[in-house]
Amino acid sequence: MFDLSKKIRPHIADLAPYSSARDEFVGTAEVWLDANEFYLDNGYNRYPNKDLNGLVSKLSTQFGVTKDRMILGNGSDEILDMILRLFCEPSKDSILTMPPTYSMYQVLAKIQNVGIQKVPLDSSFQIDLEGCLAAISNGTKLVMICSPNNPSGNLMAVSVIQKLLEQDVVVVIDEAYIQFADQPSWVEQIDRYPNLIVTQTLSKAYGLAGLRLGLCFANPEIIRLLNKIKPPYNINTASAKAAVELLSNTEQIAQRKADVIRNRERLQAYLLSQSWIEKVYPSDANFLLAKCMDNSELRQFLLENKIVIRDRSKQYGCENCLRFSIGSNNEIDQLINTLNQYQA
Ligand SMILES: *Cc1c(COP(=O)(O)O)cnc(C)c1O
Repeated sequence: MFDLSKKIRPHIADLAPYSSARDEFVGTAEVWLDANEFYLDNGYNRYPNKDLNGLVSKLSTQFGVTKDRMILGNGSDEILDMILRLFCEPSKDSILTMPPTYSMYQVLAKIQNVGIQKVPLDSSFQIDLEGCLAAISNGTKLVMICSPNNPSGNLMAVSVIQKLLEQDVVVVIDEAYIQFADQPSWVEQIDRYPNLIVTQTLSKAYGLAGLRLGLCFANPEIIRLLNKIKPPYNINTASAKAAVELLSNTEQIAQRKADVIRNRERLQAYLLSQSWIEKVYPSDANFLLAKCMDNSELRQFLLENKIVIRDRSKQYGCENCLRFSIGSNNEIDQLINTLNQYQA
């Protein structure tokens, strides 16, 4: 039986979170002299309000999740950091990561002096279930799953994730790219699994990376605990206002996704037809991972032509691999035109 109180760091259970006079006040006030703000109304003189100018309500509706089942972060990177700090005791606990994967898990764990148990993905970049079960029985605190995975681009098998969710361990599913995938989000399962935490972001499919807005979904008990350690005003009013406005255009968001998928398929077909490409991995995200005959030469050539891509060749199982983000029509045209000049 999963017992959340046995999973969190013990001192957090007793921690009284920061609370402002405004949090504690119920009703409608006329004069606010509680937070040492300046009285000039320039649109930003007040600390962000609870609903973040309507952003929380809007996201709750748009993602179909009640407000007590979600928490926002200054990017999902901040959320991942909060999750780590909620569950992992420095120099004692460990997390499980599955390389090659998003490198921030490891960076965040190292910052906290939290251990890292690595169970590499298999040659198809799928989860090694037996390896994970062994690591879990060794006592890992968090299982970090990235699906679709960065940098490989693939979704992780549902049946394997289910097996992991049935274990007595907290499972974090990072769905930064889920909007590009043909699979429902694990958010739908948060009431079924008390140990499930799902993170998403407005940085990728929603095109709002500069606003720094990440989302976390879990049952209300986990969210309540995360709220204890969340910096009080982690989302700023300027970001919130901009997001409320830009999220309204859902048609444009859907169109953008279709454009990305079309360009991803176009670039994939192009790369596969090139003699200097060994393999292009199937992708459910807005990027492609390609194995080249010689990645450093190709990367150098692109850099000389002022095109920056991501070298992933040092990642586990990614020898000679480059990662290409799917940009605009124009950018993909430019990439392909440049690659046409490449003599391997
Ligand atoms: C980009 C990315 C993030 C970070 O998203 P932010 O919300 O911009 O912090 C998280 N996870 C993965 C796998 C990513 O690729």
